[in-house]
Amino acid sequence: MGWKQELSEAYRTPGELISQNGIELTESEELFFKKTEQNYFSFSVPRYYLSLIENRTIDPVRRQCIPSVEEFSVKPWELDDPLGEEKYKVSDRLIHRYRDRVLFLVTDTCAMYCRHCFRRNFAGGKRDVVTAQELKTAAEYISEHREVVEVILSGGDPLTLETAVLDRILSALKKAREDIVIRVGTRIPVVLPSRIDAALTDTLKRYSPLFVMTQFNHKNEITGRSSTACSMLIDAGIPVLNQAVLLKGVNDTTEDLENLFHALIRLRIKPYYLFQGDLAAGTSHFRVSLQKGLALMRELRERLSGLSLPVYAVDLPGGGGKIPLNGDYIGSLTDKGWELKNAEGKIFYYPEE
Ligand SMILES: *Cc1c(COP(=O)(O)O)cnc(C)c1O
Repeated sequence: MGWKQELSEAYRTPGELISQNGIELTESEELFFKKTEQNYFSFSVPRYYLSLIENRTIDPVRRQCIPSVEEFSVKPWELDDPLGEEKYKVSDRLIHRYRDRVLFLVTDTCAMYCRHCFRRNFAGGKRDVVTAQELKTAAEYISEHREVVEVILSGGDPLTLETAVLDRILSALKKAREDIVIRVGTRIPVVLPSRIDAALTDTLKRYSPLFVMTQFNHKNEITGRSSTACSMLIDAGIPVLNQAVLLKGVNDTTEDLENLFHALIRLRIKPYYLFQGDLAAGTSHFRVSLQKGLALMRELRERLSGLSLPVYAVDLPGGGGKIPLNGDYIGSLTDKGWELKNAEGKIFYYPEE
């Protein structure tokens, strides 16, 4: 079965989960689907990813893919634009937040809609695939802005695009700037590994230097199939790095994180970032307190090599940007939350929930 068929057969309704998979929904999962007359974040899970669920209720895979009613509980400090990107938008799809790199949202479609998604305002929306005109605008922008060294393809998931479409996008960017470095942000190796086929790796390797940034959050996501997908990329000369998200009930113990990072380096994947949860609306049930995150990192630093230890980082709410969570940036815990300094020395607050 080809990947496109696999993608089209992903579960998109609770009925399919129950009738075709024998999954019994918990009360909070069932309540989510009952509330879907409200505006909710898309649901889709490939059968492969669902098959990785081991335990009926408390399971790291299940938590990431099956929605719960807690997504409707929005905290006052949560934001529709958690990274404050609006003011850095060059266009609907191009975000120029840091001097030397731009983020290009090439599609709004994902194979799986992660329940902890912080781009839930874009992903699964109505913006579909980048148009020829939008691609031209982006290519012109990087051609005129020589300070831009990297383009990060994101979305949505760029690898849900057909290989020929990806080829067109990459080719336009390279034509505009021969020296451009490309990153592809994708969960495809984790949630739909069959998508990584020879045609794709043959295409991607023509656009070197090109890096794939994926997101494994738990060791249970590392299987024969996902390992093969990553090996195919790496063997084609495409480096793979991992950006994990610290998630309550998924990977918020030293043991979970240690097992994950060790498994990743065995696959030749460098753990790049461990992200503190962004303040996206309806994701508070996933957020681990900053205090706990710092304690986990202290323990991991004692146990892990530099190769296997990622940088613990947060994207500051309100547009402050990404900062590593270490002594240079962390101030004290105040009534308004943690005092965090961004690269320019400005103070931002992150709540201690
Ligand atoms: C995360 C991010 C980047 C990349 O940041 P790195 O620290 O280089 O990985 C670039 N642009 C935007 C808007 C981002 O959110």
